[in-house]
Amino acid sequence: MKNYKLLTPGPLTTTKTVKEEMLFDRCTWDDEYKNITQSIRSHLLDIAQVSSEEYTSVLIQGSGSFAVEAVLGTTIKNKDKLLVIGNGAYAERMISMAKCMGINCVVIRSEYNNYPNMNEIKGMLEEDKSITHIAMVHCETTTGILNPLEELAVLSKEYGKILIIDAMSSFGGIPINVKKLEIDYLVSSANKCIQGVPGFAFIIAKKSELLKCKGVSKSLSLDLYDQWEAMDKDGKWRYTSPTHVVAAFLKAIEELLEEGGVEARYKRYSENNNLLRQKLGELGIQPYISKEKQSPIITTFEFPNKEFDFIKFYNFIKERGFVIYPGKLTNIDTFRVGNIGEIYLKDINELCKIIEEYIEGGK
Ligand SMILES: *Cc1c(COP(=O)(O)O)cnc(C)c1O
Repeated sequence: MKNYKLLTPGPLTTTKTVKEEMLFDRCTWDDEYKNITQSIRSHLLDIAQVSSEEYTSVLIQGSGSFAVEAVLGTTIKNKDKLLVIGNGAYAERMISMAKCMGINCVVIRSEYNNYPNMNEIKGMLEEDKSITHIAMVHCETTTGILNPLEELAVLSKEYGKILIIDAMSSFGGIPINVKKLEIDYLVSSANKCIQGVPGFAFIIAKKSELLKCKGVSKSLSLDLYDQWEAMDKDGKWRYTSPTHVVAAFLKAIEELLEEGGVEARYKRYSENNNLLRQKLGELGIQPYISKEKQSPIITTFEFPNKEFDFIKFYNFIKERGFVIYPGKLTNIDTFRVGNIGEIYLKDINELCKIIEEYIEGGK
């Protein structure tokens, strides 16, 4: 297989040094391994800008969706009601999870290229006092829109709701002050902006809330409370942990800190994204999300013309060393380009040259 760089929403391109951590097989019971887990948990609290008095972090096996499902299933009781704010596929996935688990759920949707309507949310909170939890996706990776987290957090606290944020594709790449925003549960995973490899996800949880959730989960494997209780003792995971992935993740965190932390990574991603939007715009390829709503993570582009053949385009680019992503919209033809991971301006410039070559070749 020919080597390429990933310009996708994750898993993404990681460093050689992160991958090298996986060349050694570790024992799950060993103290040094358990310390890796504890060290990761502590770093995650720092990245979230919270203290260990108020918050805890829990790692859980599986992809990001497993952790979202664990939060919904562990924290929402039979008499509770969840409000999901939706403008993309990942919010729809939360709604499907709620349905699957028999959780009372109401939804406020907006167009995929638009922010949720705060007045509508306020109206529903006024009207339906039985709502206890609110869930929203921060960066909707479906389109690349960055949803207004601060506004929602203020509203949620004003009404005393428990706030669940899917920050899967933004945590580590965009500064999020979890304490200031008073987020109760934030979910992300190993293979997004912290630049680890796939295999587990994690939750930053407000302890005073999580403590109320013992015995709520109807799933054993996805019981966030049990997972926390076991892991909090000494860093030993309940059930087999992805040892190689865990070791690589600590290395990825160290490299994030070496880069200058989340602020520095945010700057790099933003520069990548600005250059990408500008260059493709010059080639007549227009983004679907307007500039002020665009995240620095991934961009959805509309096909430049009716004859545009995505598979041909994809293969042309892949042969030249990059992999992009298909669109996820049903009503218009789009493709997506991620700019997170071990990706620099040089790579974006190179990609844009390849795309220019393709467009000019009249293909
Ligand atoms: C990646 C991602 C997820 C999780 O997807 P998995 O395929 O389960 O890892 C959830 N929400 C968002 C916004 C994501 O970008």
